[in-house]
Order: sequence, then structure tokens, then C-alpha cells
Amino acid sequence: MSDDDCHAALRDLQTFLDGECGASLERVITAHLRECAPCVHRADFERELRVVLATRCRDAAPAHLVERVIVTLTQRG
Ligand SMILES: [Zn+2]
Repeated sequence: MSDDDCHAALRDLQTFLDGECGASLERVITAHLRECAPCVHRADFERELRVVLATRCRDAAPAHLVERVIVTLTQRG
């Protein structure tokens, strides 16, 4: 395991977590995470961060406001 492997895995981590990387890249990163504890911790952290951010954003926007935005967008569409 070299630093280059970690660098490559972390560089594509966001895309990987978004599920938007290709199948071959997903295989490479998955294989790397299986063998590299530091990168697993990094991936876990990023994953949790996303959950926290998603929860915060949802709490910050009142339901009636979200509804109004959706209605506005739908009418314009
Ligand atoms: Zn690594």
C-alpha cells in the first residue's frame, strides 16, 4: 500500500460516496478501503458528515417554506 493509492482513493472519495463514480473506479476504491484503515476512517467520517449536514439542512428549512419552494418551482416548470 503506497501513499499514491491513498491519494487516489481520497481524491475520488466524494464521487464514490455520491455513488457517481464508474464501476471500475468503485471497485478500485472498495478494494483500497478493504486494505487501508486510515482511508476507511476517512470514508466513515465523510459519510457521517453528510448525514449530519443533511439533517441540519432539513431542520433549518421549515416544512411550509420547502413546500412553497416546490410549488414555485413546479409552477415555473
Ligand atoms: Zn489509504
